[in-house]
This record gives sequence, C-alpha cells and structure tokens, in this order.
Amino acid sequence: MRFIKDLFYLFFPNICVTCESSLVPSEKMICTHCRHDLPMVPYPDFKNNKIIASFSGRVPINMATSFLFYRKEGKTKRLIHSLKYKGNQKIGAFFGDWFGFQLKQSGQFNNIDYIIPVPLHPKKLKTRGYNQLTTFGIALAKQLNTTYKPTVLIRTSSATTQTFKQRFERFSKLKTTFHITDTEIFSNKHILLIDDVITTGATLEACCKEILKSENNTISIATIAYTE
Ligand SMILES: [Zn+2]
Repeated sequence: MRFIKDLFYLFFPNICVTCESSLVPSEKMICTHCRHDLPMVPYPDFKNNKIIASFSGRVPINMATSFLFYRKEGKTKRLIHSLKYKGNQKIGAFFGDWFGFQLKQSGQFNNIDYIIPVPLHPKKLKTRGYNQLTTFGIALAKQLNTTYKPTVLIRTSSATTQTFKQRFERFSKLKTTFHITDTEIFSNKHILLIDDVITTGATLEACCKEILKSENNTISIATIAYTE
C-alpha cells in the first residue's frame, strides 16, 4: 500500500503535504487551511525568549528564533519528515522564503555576514544525498541579502581512542565533532547558524563552540522548528 501511495505522490504532487487534500493552483506545498493552522512560534523578542534562555550558561547567543513548534504528532513533524526523509527539498525553500521574509521585516537580521548550516556527517550526506538545510539556507540568505556558506563548518567523527578499548566497545557510537576549516573567515563576523529542529540544543552548542574559536564574532540561531 505504501508503494502505491508513493507512486501516487510522484504523479500527483499537488496535494497538501500535511493533510493530503488537493491543492488549488494558488496554493503551494500546503493548503490554505493547514497554512493558517501551523503552530507558529510567537516570540517577537529575538534577544530574550525561551530558545535563547536554553543556551544561557552554555554559549553566548545574540539572537535566537524558530519558525514553528515541533510536537510529537502534527503538521511540523510531517513537513520536517518529508523534507528530511522523502527528498522533498522544496519544503526547505518554502520555509526559508516565508521565515526569511518575516526576519527581514523585523529589521534585526540586516547585518548577518554568513548563514551557516549545521553540517551533516559526510557518510549521512552520502546516504541521504542532500543536506536538508540547503534549500532552507539558500532561500533565507536570499531574503536577508547575505551569503550562504555551507562548507566552512564541517562534521567528523573520531574513533581514535576506541581502538584501544575492548573489542565489544568498538561498536559503540562514534563521537561526532565539528571543525572550522578557516578560522579567519568568521573573525569579526555575525554568523546566523541554522538547523531544522532545536531539541536539547547540544548540536548547536557544539557548533557554536567551534565557531567561537574565531576572534570577535557574534552568533545568532534560526531554526525551522523548536521543541518546547
Ligand atoms: Zn492541508
């Protein structure tokens, strides 16, 4: 049944990603009903909100914002799932345009030098075929009239210490680490770090720590979704 359903989507893409009703020509990606029903994050103060508070005492963040709330079941989850696992990269551009327009209107994101995505591990990139943040980041950069730079912050996994451990331990999860390939490039810059969903913030924190190795930079965070 799943296969037939997937085939159906392939030939009839004009259905709402979240509720599967048919779209009229003026609707894109999601129907008007779902569009009005999206759980938008209502934090107008980018420097003082729940998201930025969650990074307090961990890393200094200038501004933090998310577009939608992410819940166990719901529209955001279906959209992100389609973006991440179904190859539906248009969703990223759709969010980037909409969210980017809002951020531009706020007047507080006019001085971003680079938009940097949380990188995927090269192996994951190979199996998935794309980073789910690419279309989102490009659209966001276009709205904010800045540069999308996906290649400077990279992700690796280190297993060096594990080879000395006992055999069964070698199968334990590899530790993932982040690196910047060019420390000069982020000096004296305002970086907007982007991700799909903030949950614990641990990944973003690790990325920030790496970016902060460059001198005198400012980091802000924007994500598609936020888990309260
Ligand atoms: Zn719908």
